[in-house]
Amino acid sequence: MDSVVPPFWGPDFDELSSTDPEIAQVVLGELDRLRAGLQLIASENLTSPAVLAALGSTLTNKYAEGYPGRRYYGGCAQVDQAETIGLTRARELFGAGHANLQPHSGASANLAAYAALVAPGEKVLAMELPHGGHLTHGSRVNFSGRWFDAVGYPVRADTELIDYDQVRDLARRHRPKLIICGATAYPRLIDFAAFRSIADEVDAYLMVDAAHFIGLVAGGAIPSPVPYADVVCATTHKVLRGPRGGMILCRAEFAERIDKAVFPFTQGGPLMHAVAAKAVALREAARPAFGEYAAQVVRNARTLADGLAEAGMRPVSGGTDTHLALIDLREVGVSGRDAEARCELARITLNKNAIPYDPQPPMTASGIRVGTGCVTTQGMTEPQLRVVAELIARAVRADPATVAGTAELTEIAGAVTELVAEFPAYPRPVEYSR
Ligand code: PLP
Repeated sequence: MDSVVPPFWGPDFDELSSTDPEIAQVVLGELDRLRAGLQLIASENLTSPAVLAALGSTLTNKYAEGYPGRRYYGGCAQVDQAETIGLTRARELFGAGHANLQPHSGASANLAAYAALVAPGEKVLAMELPHGGHLTHGSRVNFSGRWFDAVGYPVRADTELIDYDQVRDLARRHRPKLIICGATAYPRLIDFAAFRSIADEVDAYLMVDAAHFIGLVAGGAIPSPVPYADVVCATTHKVLRGPRGGMILCRAEFAERIDKAVFPFTQGGPLMHAVAAKAVALREAARPAFGEYAAQVVRNARTLADGLAEAGMRPVSGGTDTHLALIDLREVGVSGRDAEARCELARITLNKNAIPYDPQPPMTASGIRVGTGCVTTQGMTEPQLRVVAELIARAVRADPATVAGTAELTEIAGAVTELVAEFPAYPRPVEYSR
């Protein structure tokens, strides 16, 4: 694709171009990649120009250790305003007693939540990683599995859903101090009330890791965990469509513990440009249009999952209630790794993913994960998602080691180009001139 016309943040881009042409080229190359293909990674989205403007602002310069009105450095009047506005928006949008916008990422938010609620060596019950949980939910290669005594709950082999009776049994047996729900690759709604009742029964804290679906909650497309959880951790860059970063919501009684766990316990100075960009995203997410967006994200994910099912690719658990679907490719006889690589050749970006009880190792995986956050931001609806499903199904079956497969992938890439030309990512502003 032609990269002659720079992105919409033109004046800054000119500055970057002249100061550092190499990095400027990377930025343009990435924009071309976004514009040229289909982005179906379930944890990604396309932030608005307003969010990008806040991210690219001079707020990045400011040291602001502490919280609004209680900083360790002078000169914080402006950033105090940004954070205060953002915190008010977060509390109002989610109906939370308290919010913290300083976590640098979802993993950092989770680390702070652990620090606030449990001591090293204490027991934590969370979804197993191979069944859809996250690394920070007790994996041995992560602080959560190294410093805490993590017990995992699986999904059922027959339904591929959480078995709440089994979670209750595990909680009764292990008496965890903290129970975590929320996942990275679980396409269905989670029964937060059931988790609350299990946590209450064993006197555990309940943390909901809403990293993936907090945007759907913001838009009212799925039920909120906020009334049930002691602490809700989230990322701001997935369906919520904000800057890369983390956020914590909690009951007012946990406010001080959470704030101290974020700073000074697990982090130093906050990224104030990111905090301001989170505030912008929260304002955008409070608009009625975002509710329509969130509902469309779910409709699009259902259409995609149904389309793939019709093409012989089974959605784990039979479908989706959220923004993502997990697809079992065993019947097709193609690994997740190969499917990801084939789709990439056809300009379709998605990721291999383990499916529950996966016989393959994680780097091979029997499945793929697809999400509709980006394509919905680009304006695609059900008719386009039916086409996307067909294109994925064709690409997964096209073997690039054969002449026919290579020709097929080239043809699919052409169809992708045509589709995204109608629904461009970051459409170029007409008013821009060099
Ligand atoms: N929690 C869950 C459920 C996630 O899916 C993710 C990332 O995808 C995280 C936490 C970590 O977020 P980050 O990559 O921002 O650290």
